[in-house]
Amino acid sequence: MLCQQSRWERVEQVLLRLQAAELVTWESLLGAQPAVLTPLLSGSAYPPTRARLLPRLAAAVLDAGGVAALLRGADPRAALLALPQVGPETADAVLAFTGTSVPVVDAYLRRVLGRLGLVDPTSSYGDLRAQLAVLDTGLPWEVLHGLIVEHGIHHCLTKQPRCESAGSPRRDYAEPRKCAAHCPPCGGCPLADVCPRRGVESWV
Ligand code: SF4
Repeated sequence: MLCQQSRWERVEQVLLRLQAAELVTWESLLGAQPAVLTPLLSGSAYPPTRARLLPRLAAAVLDAGGVAALLRGADPRAALLALPQVGPETADAVLAFTGTSVPVVDAYLRRVLGRLGLVDPTSSYGDLRAQLAVLDTGLPWEVLHGLIVEHGIHHCLTKQPRCESAGSPRRDYAEPRKCAAHCPPCGGCPLADVCPRRGVESWV
C-alpha cells in the first residue's frame, strides 16, 4: 500500500521511520492513531489517507488470521483483493514475492515491454496479464519484474529514455546495496539493438 504511486527510496524512508516507532506489526498498526501515523508516512502518497487506511488493513489482515493464512487459502489472490486498498497490482506483487510466481503489471512493465513491442501497453490489467502468459522469458516472474523496474529506472525513462547514453544515476537509498553493484556504468540501453522504439523522445 505504501509503495502505490510513490518512489521506492522515499518508501524506504517511511519504513525506516515506522520501524523506529515500532509500528511494523499488524497488531501495532491496528491500534496506531492516524495523527501519529501521518507524519511517519511522509514520502508515501497521500499520508493522511494512508494513515486512516493502514489500521483498517491491519484489522482485515488480522481478521483473516494473518498474511500467511491468507496465502495458504484456496484462492489467495481473491483473498488479497478483498483487503482494503489492495488492487490487482498489489495483490500480484505480494504473490510474486511470497513464492507464487505470477506476472506483476505495473507502469514500468507497460512502458518497457510496450516500447519493445511485446505487449499492448494500453490494455487493461487483465488483458495484459493474458498477453504476458504466452511470453516465454525463461525467468521467474518476480525476477523479470525486478529487471523491468531497474530498466525503467535507469534507461527506459518516461520522457527521455536513455537509449544511447549511460543509465540514470543510481537512486539514493539508505541501504546502498539496493542500487549499487547491479547498475554499473554503461554506454547505453542493453536492449537498444532489438528495440523498435530506440531513440524515441517521448512516449504516450
Ligand atoms: S532502446 Fe530506448 S526505448 Fe527501447 S528499451 Fe531501450 S531505453 Fe527503452
